[in-house]
Amino acid sequence: MRIPTQAGLARVLELVFPSKCVHCDAEGSLLCGVCLNGAAFLKGSGNGGFCRRCARNTGGPDLCHACAESPPPLSRLIAVYQFDGAIRDAVHALKYNDIRALGPILGRLMSDDPRIVRLVPDAIVPVPLHARRERSRGYNQAALLARPIAELLEAPVAGDLLRRTVHNQPQVESRAESARSRNVSGIFKASPGVRDKRILLVDDVATTGSTLRECARTLLKAGARRVDAVVLAKEI
Ligand SMILES: [Zn+2]
Ligand SMILES: [Zn+2]
Repeated sequence: MRIPTQAGLARVLELVFPSKCVHCDAEGSLLCGVCLNGAAFLKGSGNGGFCRRCARNTGGPDLCHACAESPPPLSRLIAVYQFDGAIRDAVHALKYNDIRALGPILGRLMSDDPRIVRLVPDAIVPVPLHARRERSRGYNQAALLARPIAELLEAPVAGDLLRRTVHNQPQVESRAESARSRNVSGIFKASPGVRDKRILLVDDVATTGSTLRECARTLLKAGARRVDAVVLAKEI
């Protein structure tokens, strides 16, 4: 008897238990076209509307007052969707229900954003989980999202350039901006390999952006030349 490969096994499972949309339960795919069409994009239509450095809705200009007055460590923050509806359900399924097949699907949606193709990173760094959390989940969802982006930009995924050294509380427990900044301060460590590199951080969701800014600060302190970030979704 032939032992099925993992891909072969996935195809057999697909026949027995066809994929259902994580938002509306329609059969056929994990995220159906109807739900995807209903997802809100966070990009300016022609004349902008979102700050290029923090993805805040400015209603027009591509740089908000806060970022103009005190530039954040991120040169760019690209948020593809609003964290809501089908996208929220998809992120939840990817992170907590072990539906890792959503990783490449969502990563491809991110790499379809025309703003991303203009970035020229030397290395792509998924925002790291603490080793203990990655072990219990079995994977880092940000690393799954990063792969299609790395293929598009022809840059390596370099997960070893940044580590999360402190196992902090999940961000949902502290929503206040000041508490979140304190919560993430000093929790990452960058490798000397980041020196002079342009780094693109990838993550699933940004709430206030404090985790991404802390990653960027850590990378810049270790000598990175520039840090940009792309997230699938941002809470607004
Ligand atoms: Zn659907
Ligand atoms: Zn801003």
